Amino acid sequence: MGTKLERKVFLKKEAHDSILSYCKMKHPNEAILILKGKSKKGLITIDGLSIPPFSYSDQTFAGFPQSFLPLDLSYVGTAHSHPSGSAEPSVTDLHNFFGLVSIIVQSPYENDTDIFAWDSQGNQIPIIFESADEQKN
Ligand SMILES: [Zn+2]
Repeated sequence: MGTKLERKVFLKKEAHDSILSYCKMKHPNEAILILKGKSKKGLITIDGLSIPPFSYSDQTFAGFPQSFLPLDLSYVGTAHSHPSGSAEPSVTDLHNFFGLVSIIVQSPYENDTDIFAWDSQGNQIPIIFESADEQKN
């Protein structure tokens, strides 16, 4: 047992749906979005999105110059798509890590099983989906 805080991501339904639609719209190029929300006691709640200024993307990479971002404490990370292949973060993804969490969505961007969350070390973070919770109750 370490002293490291166990992290979890809570993805609100509206943000979830918008991420999936944005990834589909940008396909076959990668899509990239900034995740907005808050982090408290290891729980990262994502309830909004922002399109980063001056973002660039092609079929294997999507990024943005972090120096153009306004200082905004609601920015908790990024979401980007992997049009082909797995949702594993690439070395480039880890080098360009921003915030607390990196969400990667793999093609075909249809289901919760296409969405993964990673920390800056490339460890997977469990995601709680608001939509899935609603179906259970
Ligand atoms: Zn990537």
